[in-house]
Amino acid sequence: MASSQAQPMNHDHVTDARDTWYTILKKKVLSSVTIKPGQRILDIACGTGQVSFLASTDVGPTGQVIGIDTSNDKFEKAISCKSRDSVRYSNVEFLKHDILDLESLNILGEKNFDLVICADERILVDDPFSSVIRWKKFIKSGGYLLVVIPHHKSLVKATAYERTLNRLGFSGGGDCSWLVSEDSLPQVLKSAGFAVERTTFIEQFGQSPRYYDIEDGITEFEKLVGDDTEKFPSDRTLQYLVQHQSTALRIYQSEWARLAVDGEIEEVNGVNVILARNILNIRLSEEDMVAIPAFIGGCRCGKVRYSASVVPSQATYCHCFTCQKLSGGPFLPFVDLKSAGVTFEHSTAHELQNVTSVATRSFCKNCGSPISMTYHGNAEDISLTMGSIDEDSVTVQLPNLDRHIMLKEKAKWYTLPEDGAKREDGISLP
Ligand SMILES: [Zn+2]
Ligand SMILES: [Zn+2]
Repeated sequence: MASSQAQPMNHDHVTDARDTWYTILKKKVLSSVTIKPGQRILDIACGTGQVSFLASTDVGPTGQVIGIDTSNDKFEKAISCKSRDSVRYSNVEFLKHDILDLESLNILGEKNFDLVICADERILVDDPFSSVIRWKKFIKSGGYLLVVIPHHKSLVKATAYERTLNRLGFSGGGDCSWLVSEDSLPQVLKSAGFAVERTTFIEQFGQSPRYYDIEDGITEFEKLVGDDTEKFPSDRTLQYLVQHQSTALRIYQSEWARLAVDGEIEEVNGVNVILARNILNIRLSEEDMVAIPAFIGGCRCGKVRYSASVVPSQATYCHCFTCQKLSGGPFLPFVDLKSAGVTFEHSTAHELQNVTSVATRSFCKNCGSPISMTYHGNAEDISLTMGSIDEDSVTVQLPNLDRHIMLKEKAKWYTLPEDGAKREDGISLP
């Protein structure tokens, strides 16, 4: 969440009690997974390194733990802790790096880790899908991801606040509005190719649930704006809120009321620890094989997701004007398959449009990614944009490029490679 957002689980202003809670939490997080000697563990947003140090004992001298964080006071503490006991922690390595850009760290390799942990509950809140899909690249087939996420009811104040900001037209702030139930993150993990094995709720000690009335919205809004104005005096969003307090308060109150169940808003203080397994490409028995999709895919933001259970028949690059405009490039690559074999998860972001008179195309309304195309009069077949396929989910042989089509409209600035594929001026429907 951005600095101007409400942060109920914020631990920037650490007190002793908070420190103790985090120490207990990290131990509990680790106890929800079995770590074996010799394993390799990646600890993302490792902070003071508590999780890394605890895990280093379990993996032993033949294993390895890599902790990564951006440079901050806590991380410096991790590094100095290791240097004070470098023999004991010889199997722990700390790397200072942007945790949103792990791909550029060649040292991590691919599918190298038995377990990837992110025990900082703030990390997955903003963009859960693209984070887990990126982390998956580092997990072995059959390996595990262990993540911590705020309980959705711990975010009631933040949710009302963020929805208020969105309605006032502030974009780019945090967005925890996707986190609406116990099942929200498991759904994201499932669509990213994980099997969720266990969810454990850990309540912050001494913090039993609190209940608010609808009228409490006024006090909560005033507290949020008041506290944040002290903390971030130059924040422009807050200045706006203070200047337009009555409108903002009215919107906040309506969003606050929307969170009520039977006139009451419940706030739970705690986190969920979720253990998920990377199930793609693992060897399964014959009867399990049918359950594995040929591939899965979707849009850039994760709101549109599909799963394909059949092998595509061919791959074509379409050079028509529409594909140029929609892709912003010289062509759009498609694979063709039977539409009965493609299942889209229900999403209000999946939008169908008749961009041209010959076909219906689908997009993600949220991020703009082109997803599919179906020619009118041929509903049995569907073409999926190849870029929408999650490459590491592919369990079948995808077809090689078969044809360049619609070359009469080809971009003049683009030169076709000598790739041996067939070349057609128009389209020939199968
Ligand atoms: Zn999208
Ligand atoms: Zn086209």
